[in-house]
Amino acid sequence: MSIVIKNITLKYRASINTLIGEWNMPAKDKFIEYSEEQIKMLGDPDLYTRQVAKMLGVGVSTVVRARQRLGIKVPLGQKKNTIRAKTKEHKRPGKVKQETRTCLHPECSITFIVIPSRTKQYCSHRCHSLTVDNSHLHSAAVLAKRTKSTTPVYKRYKALVHRLSGKTYHENIDIINPERHPRTLNGVDGGWQLDHIKTIKECFEQGIPAEEVAAVSNLRMLPWQQNLMRNYN
Ligand SMILES: [Zn+2]
Repeated sequence: MSIVIKNITLKYRASINTLIGEWNMPAKDKFIEYSEEQIKMLGDPDLYTRQVAKMLGVGVSTVVRARQRLGIKVPLGQKKNTIRAKTKEHKRPGKVKQETRTCLHPECSITFIVIPSRTKQYCSHRCHSLTVDNSHLHSAAVLAKRTKSTTPVYKRYKALVHRLSGKTYHENIDIINPERHPRTLNGVDGGWQLDHIKTIKECFEQGIPAEEVAAVSNLRMLPWQQNLMRNYN
């Protein structure tokens, strides 16, 4: 390997110098003292681009670009010191390792091919559900958790208000948002949000129907900062 590196280094000496020249800019001072060692790293096809980037303290794209210019081709998925499989089959580049498994259902003998990392043990959902006891999923407690009736009433009310408000907004966009402020999440510069003038919480506490909370008259646009303040006051 060291011979290869030496050749690369010699062969691309000119390009490396060009490279260093280009890097020799105020914002990228760290590359001025680009050492022989670091150039070797770039030239070592056994090193992952990610590894080199980490070692050099630069971004991955910098390494990718540098390697492209140096003409260094790093095989995908190759890793330093990895003991490669010795069989003929696995020496073929690009060949994905596969294994054959038999369905775990006692009365099923279907086999299927997976890559080793897959956890699949049954040929089908049917075989899985017939073999594995998942009766606990049908217990009263689990079913109750999944039914909407146990979601806190306020949460459901809020969700309904939001759904209705979205509808109102789109049907009345010229009234609510004539200037077409962009609606964003918190933290987006220049972002606005649809706000309920009388808050959802207040309305909930006063038993006001969701339809009224989501009416045009209760909707307005607010910069997200102001909306955030309102919700925390
Ligand atoms: Zn099966």
